[in-house]
Amino acid sequence: MSDMPEVESKHTPPAAECPSCDHMLPHGLGEKTCLICGAVCRISHQPTVDALISETLPCPHCNVVVEAGSAERPLEVACSACSKFFRITEKPYKVEIQCPSCERKLRIRPKPGTKQLNCPACDAAFNVTF
Ligand SMILES: [Zn+2]
Ligand SMILES: [Zn+2]
Ligand SMILES: [Zn+2]
Repeated sequence: MSDMPEVESKHTPPAAECPSCDHMLPHGLGEKTCLICGAVCRISHQPTVDALISETLPCPHCNVVVEAGSAERPLEVACSACSKFFRITEKPYKVEIQCPSCERKLRIRPKPGTKQLNCPACDAAFNVTF
């Protein structure tokens, strides 16, 4: 199955915060456990779910546009035209952080908790907490 072509989804839900401790929850939809305080939260975001279900992507085999039909990501779909399978992968979730020293913007994949970043422009090290 490793040779299944992948197409990146265009939609991803917004970041969700833990209602108990206000830290960021692991990204995605469904049941998530807060890595900071252990609270279990159900994350839903209807506009994203609707967008994921009705998302259309070109089949990498034959370029016919295929509707996802499900909000699951990654999702394996069979093309209605050529019957070959491909995988719709989750869009990577990234946030923009501004370096406190030189105002350069860094795009990173946030992880719950505190993370040390090194600015590629001025080499300043700083901490961000999600
Ligand atoms: Zn929490
Ligand atoms: Zn196809
Ligand atoms: Zn900097």
